[in-house]
Amino acid sequence: MQAGSCIFCKIAAGEIPALRVLEAKDAVAFLDIGPLAPGHLLLIPKAHYTSILDVPPPALSELVSHLPGLARAVLQVTGASGLNILQNTGESSGQAVFHLHFHLIPRTAGDRLGYRWNAGSYSAGQGEALQGRIVETLKSRV
Ligand code: 5GP
Ligand code: ZN
Repeated sequence: MQAGSCIFCKIAAGEIPALRVLEAKDAVAFLDIGPLAPGHLLLIPKAHYTSILDVPPPALSELVSHLPGLARAVLQVTGASGLNILQNTGESSGQAVFHLHFHLIPRTAGDRLGYRWNAGSYSAGQGEALQGRIVETLKSRV
């Protein structure tokens, strides 16, 4: 999606309304319009990046620096006892808005939101093979 037609670019620019809770130089946080729990927030960069895959690390560092303060504030205000910080990358992950964003989802015991996805396991040698290939790939990309 191009930045010009991106709903989160429009929110960042103030062209469409959102219930903002943080306005920083390069980032905005606001209430998700379809909350999974009261206080569900989205943190976005003002600049348009599609996902974690195309954001330069310094811009990502600046963005995530806002997470601890937001987390503390939303826990204090909602009385939730925990939260999930979620970042979906790609359609198969559930990403629906293709402007990088972090969800902060307040959690309380027994809220039935779930998280425990079905865990798999590795066959003999499969984990080690993946480990080796990922290590080599990381080396070749530096
Ligand atoms: P994703 O599935 O891409 O990780 O999450 C996108 C999130 O953006 C959803 O939770 C959805 O409710 C939220 N969202 C989509 N459009 C709007 C909007 O116009 N305003 C606000 N505040 N949230 C939105
Ligand atoms: Zn955008």
